[in-house]
Amino acid sequence: MSLISVGTMAFDAIETPFGKVDKIVGGSGTYVAYAASNFVTPIQQISIVGYDFPAEEMDLLKKRGVQLEGVEIVPDKKSFFWSGKYHNDMNTRDTLVTDLNVLADFNPVVPESYQGADFLMLGNLSPSIQLSVINQLKVRPKLIVMDTMNFWMEIALDGLKEVLKKVDVLMVNDGEARQLSGEVSLVKAAKVIMDMGPAFLVIKKGEHGALLFHKNHVFSAPGLPLEEVFDPTGAGDTFAGGFIGHLAKTKDISFSNMKTAVIVGSAMASFCVEKFGPNRMKEITKKDIETRLGEFVQLVNFDIDLVA
Ligand code: AMP
Repeated sequence: MSLISVGTMAFDAIETPFGKVDKIVGGSGTYVAYAASNFVTPIQQISIVGYDFPAEEMDLLKKRGVQLEGVEIVPDKKSFFWSGKYHNDMNTRDTLVTDLNVLADFNPVVPESYQGADFLMLGNLSPSIQLSVINQLKVRPKLIVMDTMNFWMEIALDGLKEVLKKVDVLMVNDGEARQLSGEVSLVKAAKVIMDMGPAFLVIKKGEHGALLFHKNHVFSAPGLPLEEVFDPTGAGDTFAGGFIGHLAKTKDISFSNMKTAVIVGSAMASFCVEKFGPNRMKEITKKDIETRLGEFVQLVNFDIDLVA
């Protein structure tokens, strides 16, 4: 069961209340690939990097079953660079620098060998790039999941709405759901957004977990209360990778399996924040994932005697 993942592969500079790194590998596509490859291979990556992206990082991804035929290497330009600084609550951050570099000319070409993939993860990128990938696929994947951000709502709303008509699941955070819908209530926001196209909506709420909406149903997944959160960078993409990785592994795209997928996504994101950049994602084993999923089950498991 193959999964195409489209997203950035980048360098990040990150500052949190607990420390600072000037240059660490990041990018939405990198985090999705690290998370999803725990559940399904191959991951068929589509991205663009410059001459400076480390060959060792590419090799590490390849060893995990990530195919890189769709990753363009531009010999005379630098990789995408992003820098962010987190506030004390670690749920909010300021973007300090966005250097598009190679991303400015990104015109993805889906390799022939990727055709026929059943699952497509559209990472946070311009809606026109997301649309171009959808349009190049000869057979529509069984499930298309899309991530986006406030930036695209501000500068490319029409394009974003066009892509929304073609995807099955949208993932946004609570602020973005409110911005896109113009509604304050997340329940009302979900209805407005699902009317724009996606049959399923995931609203991420940082350390407080995520909500999954479909028709009149809603499911709430907790965030795992962690003693130490070092760096939330990539948590959203890691969540997305765990979510779609689980669905691709189980080949089941029902609402009830999506509930499990949201828990798997939350569990993967809870690892991601434990170290800077994708470092924790490189270490974890299947056993670690199983143990953590057990902790999620315990977290929400309770007995109740109904009074009424
Ligand atoms: P997240 O913390 O899940 O929102 O994702 C953080 C990652 O997204 C970082 O590793 C960045 O390199 C990448 N990123 C930041 N801004 C953008 C952007 N405008 N387009 C694509 N990727 C971005």
